[in-house]
Amino acid sequence: MPITANDPNRKSWLPVDKDSDFPIQNIPFGVFLTRDDIITVGTRIGDFAIDLGALHQLGYFNGIELTDDIFLQDTLNDFISDGKKTWRLVRNRIAEIFDEKNTALKDNKAHHDRVIFTMDEIEMQLPVQVGDYTDFYSSKEHATNVGMMFRDPENALLPNWLHIPVGYHGRSSSIIPSGINVHRPNGQTLPAGADKPVFGPSKLVDFELEMAFITTDANDLGEPIPIDEAEDYIFGLVLFNDWSARDIQKWEYVPLGPFLAKSFASTISPWIVTMDALHPFKVESPKQDFEPLPYLRTKGKKSYDINLEVHITPESGTTTCVTKSNFKYMYWNMSQQLAHHTVNGCPVKSGDMMGSGTISGPTPDSYGSMLELSWRGEKPVKLNDGSERKFINDNDTVTLRGYCQNEHVRIGFGECSTKILPALKM
Ligand code: MN
Repeated sequence: MPITANDPNRKSWLPVDKDSDFPIQNIPFGVFLTRDDIITVGTRIGDFAIDLGALHQLGYFNGIELTDDIFLQDTLNDFISDGKKTWRLVRNRIAEIFDEKNTALKDNKAHHDRVIFTMDEIEMQLPVQVGDYTDFYSSKEHATNVGMMFRDPENALLPNWLHIPVGYHGRSSSIIPSGINVHRPNGQTLPAGADKPVFGPSKLVDFELEMAFITTDANDLGEPIPIDEAEDYIFGLVLFNDWSARDIQKWEYVPLGPFLAKSFASTISPWIVTMDALHPFKVESPKQDFEPLPYLRTKGKKSYDINLEVHITPESGTTTCVTKSNFKYMYWNMSQQLAHHTVNGCPVKSGDMMGSGTISGPTPDSYGSMLELSWRGEKPVKLNDGSERKFINDNDTVTLRGYCQNEHVRIGFGECSTKILPALKM
């Protein structure tokens, strides 16, 4: 079935700025609360949020097999369970409804008023109920930088890293949408030179520039997903800031890996951009040092050219872009991650979320964390207001942005933004 929604020549009758992340070729999916306190599944074109529940009730999806309440829900999980064919039919239909050549909705004022909201009339929610969250560690540059700082510069990568998409099981209960503030976490740390830990606010709160993919129901217990089919089970992608407390992490992570240093919060951008929308931006993955084992071998383009940025805004209000990276730098692609995740028979469900791991590029201005940008605090990062940062200060807002761009179209993710508040007194 063709992805007619991607037609680069299509224009919408809704106004869209030239550099908007959300042209009619994007059509992401999200969940929002309307001014009447109604929660609904929706999409976005330009700066307008579109109530898909209302569109469905008004008959605009006639001919597509959908249950009556599929969009009248507070998560996208059931819609995602309907599978790739349904996602594509719905996205293609939305493109037709808002095509400038189609005046059916445009000229029906009553329908128009029920379906379309300006962004300031709505409040974005978490788009899915995340059952399980896994975080990978798939950027070679990031793993090398961290290995150099914390272990041995000569042997920065551990021996398994080039053969396995390394990952750990994270905590889904603290995944939050953009716009929710987070308190600096309290925890145990071991001060330099001390032989006993102390308790208090983390001094080294850091962002991790990541993307995350969201899956549909993929496999039953015991059945691996073949790597060639893996992408069929991925609904879409969001920006993902995997907040990290480096001092807590350093003390607690041996031998079982990250725990409380990571589970206090992870922020996502609220619109899920579909794999269909990202299709024009597929690129080859980086050449791998070793040919992976057969179950991890991919053919063709399995990576995506997505520009990524991180901005820090202190209380002064002046914003600084501190890094520019790209999703295409990932050494292990999403197909490899999903094939590896399920090769032991572990089932993957609708709404599961898989983080990429921090995405660092090859140059120091493309590193994906303050840990690397400031090289463990040795090289403070200068901000535009004249201040310096080794890590993230109280009342700093960290904003991730991401977009794909070719000569025809820009497909973006909006923003993934969180303010760090002072630690709670304990
Ligand atoms: Mn991470």
